[in-house]
Amino acid sequence: MVNRSADLFHLDIMDGTFVPNLSFGFPVVEAIAKIATKPLDVHLMIVHPEKYIERFAKAGADYISFHLEAARDDGNDPVEILRMIRSLGVKAGLAIDPDVPVEDLFPYLEEVDFLLIMSVFAGFGGQKFIEDTYGRVKTLKAEIDRRGLKCPIEVDGGVGPGNADKLAEAGVEMFVAGSSVFNAPDQEAAVRAIRGCN
Ligand code: ZN
Repeated sequence: MVNRSADLFHLDIMDGTFVPNLSFGFPVVEAIAKIATKPLDVHLMIVHPEKYIERFAKAGADYISFHLEAARDDGNDPVEILRMIRSLGVKAGLAIDPDVPVEDLFPYLEEVDFLLIMSVFAGFGGQKFIEDTYGRVKTLKAEIDRRGLKCPIEVDGGVGPGNADKLAEAGVEMFVAGSSVFNAPDQEAAVRAIRGCN
């Protein structure tokens, strides 16, 4: 279904430490890479992301994002991690949870290929979209435009046909949808509705 109708496979990697939940690791990413005809977007919700980036790249990731909070907690420079991702030929993204000001991303705008704004707190599927996200995206998009940059904004959490229009208006270009697609009676119609071509 994802191969047919979506643009990316967004894979949430959870370690039970950065977030209080576990998802899956390398073997599952490798298995998906074997059958995927669309790029793999690996979202690392883990501590010490720099330790695992090379393995996720080898497993087939085309995009890798990690959390600014994870790098800060370790005292690591996010720029070094972003450059490590890019050096592997993978698109590099920086993610933040809803309680981190978007201004905290500003020092890194020149170093990223995309930015991931969480519209729920990282860690669980099926959460309700946080309305504050529209304003956060607008602020971030204004700064990206002001600097003449092109990095797209991705939004993850509670995204569906009901809010995709307003998110697109605010400046979102990459929409991560989980429950709103997988729980829909017609999953491909849900993807089309998010694209606005229904
Ligand atoms: Zn995600």
